[in-house]
Amino acid sequence: MSEKRLAIVTGGARGIGRAIVLELLGQGREVVAMDILPEPLEELQNVVKEAGFTVITKCLDITDTEKLTSTIAELAKEHGGIGILVNNAGITRDKLMMQMDASDFDSVISVNLKAAFMAIQASLRSMIRNKFGRIINISSVAGVMGQAGSANYSASKAGLIGVAKSVAREVGKKNVTANCIAPGFIETDMTKILPQPVKDAAKQVIPVKRFGAPEDIAKAVAFLTRDDAGYITGQVLCVDGGMAM
Ligand code: NDP
Repeated sequence: MSEKRLAIVTGGARGIGRAIVLELLGQGREVVAMDILPEPLEELQNVVKEAGFTVITKCLDITDTEKLTSTIAELAKEHGGIGILVNNAGITRDKLMMQMDASDFDSVISVNLKAAFMAIQASLRSMIRNKFGRIINISSVAGVMGQAGSANYSASKAGLIGVAKSVAREVGKKNVTANCIAPGFIETDMTKILPQPVKDAAKQVIPVKRFGAPEDIAKAVAFLTRDDAGYITGQVLCVDGGMAM
């Protein structure tokens, strides 16, 4: 399909991130999975090995912006640039607005939005130089529609859309695209913790009447990262069973 191109996936060890790593490896990309804990990264190494591939892993907290920036700079130097950046790592600290304190807001913004901003900044120079870049922010339908109990999370996910659209306008002429995927309810540890009545109610408002799989998101990401997807930029693709239309 294309040149090998180095792809970075934040939060790549588990859930949606892991599915994205596997999908991009299957497409012949060289992939770096970044995540915060060593054990899930070791587990990922085993899964990837079983699938017949190899993956580069980097264990770091992406809110350590100095470490994040220097790690991306080193990778760009070693591999001749960053081709693909998938800002996938995300956390929730859900509370109703009246109970949410500033630290709940700050922690979600710093993982979900600020780290993505820093990772884009660190990757962009080599993308511009190489006249190729595919930036995908994993937003959420919560960033498109809002979500009760998630003002912090929804703000971070709407922010990712604003960042992607702005970057798309800045660097489009350099063959660097920036898009968002907005997943609906996807079966991962993040949604496993939801109470059953919440899950049942959610399914009622999803036209396809079920939650999605991490692979549903990974396929959409892989499509947007293709060399021949260069005319799609600044978009938000809801992969949500029709929930947010
Ligand atoms: P998971 O919680 O299963 O995986 C997220 C990964 O990101 C984990 O491995 C987590 O590490 C890692 N991570 C969290 N904080 C950091 C950090 N500071 N530095 C490095 N890595 C970190 O989430 P999902 O796979 O469900 O979600 C992936 C993305 O998709 C998120 O951005 C989420 O908001 C978004 N999304 C998910 C939906 C869903 O229904 N699942 C719906 C809409 C959007 P660990 O947990 O081990 O500490």
